[in-house]
Amino acid sequence: MTTIHPIQTGSVKIKASQRRREGTGGLGKILLGRKWTEWIPIYAWAIEHAEGLIVVDTGETARTSESGYFPRWQPYFKLSVRMNVSPEQEIGPQMRKLDLKPERVWKVILTHLHTDHTGGIHHFPNSKFLVDGEEHQNAQGLSGMLQGYLPNRWPDWFAPMSIPFQPKAYGPFKESYAVTDARDVIIVPTPGHTPNHVSVIVKIDGVSYFLAGDTSYSEELLRERHPDGVSPSVEVAMQTMDKILRYSQLEPTVYLPSHDPFSIDRLIHKRMLTSAS
Ligand SMILES: [Zn+2]
Repeated sequence: MTTIHPIQTGSVKIKASQRRREGTGGLGKILLGRKWTEWIPIYAWAIEHAEGLIVVDTGETARTSESGYFPRWQPYFKLSVRMNVSPEQEIGPQMRKLDLKPERVWKVILTHLHTDHTGGIHHFPNSKFLVDGEEHQNAQGLSGMLQGYLPNRWPDWFAPMSIPFQPKAYGPFKESYAVTDARDVIIVPTPGHTPNHVSVIVKIDGVSYFLAGDTSYSEELLRERHPDGVSPSVEVAMQTMDKILRYSQLEPTVYLPSHDPFSIDRLIHKRMLTSAS
């Protein structure tokens, strides 16, 4: 029996114009925006599966409260984001409390490499990491840091395997990669929030649990087909949202983005994307 455990690694506050795109979007609008969201959760997921323990995203680290953790020259971190993570809220200690030993994790899949998804990488030195190859490439060095990635904070040993997508359609998604031999944990490309963002579909008893990363900040925004303020291409972000909506018409789907306060309620009560519309 496969079980999905939600793990909230603290909270984050962002600008309203990042959560919900205003006009043409872009960093300028976000930096200058005066309106903040409320504190929203930072979720990661631990999946107990017969073939091994799988983690999707690693959440944020308590070190974000250390002065100088974020590069001072990067205005986004200074002006547009607030983290609230205590040491015991990091993914490692939380998994231990659930009796899921981080050192026993088989595979860690990262939907993308933004700081609030990679802050817990150091808890999994024994695991195999899976990341889209271009996402990894794009996040490196100074140009990565300019885009808001923190490659300087990844552990030295971090050398993820590039997800070997197969030209095998999975519903509306043109490519896919099966993580398990049972083909019930599937990675699909969901570009938008970042150009090479991915999502993970976990099938349990005919229900697709769609671990969506940041394809939208909430289910409501997905239903409205309203892109976020940071997606480099609105068209690409919209195409992905449409594919997820189409998928949910083909398969009973529980949509679980990383920062939606209602994700847990939907997971517990199996609230479907289509049935509630
Ligand atoms: Zn992100």
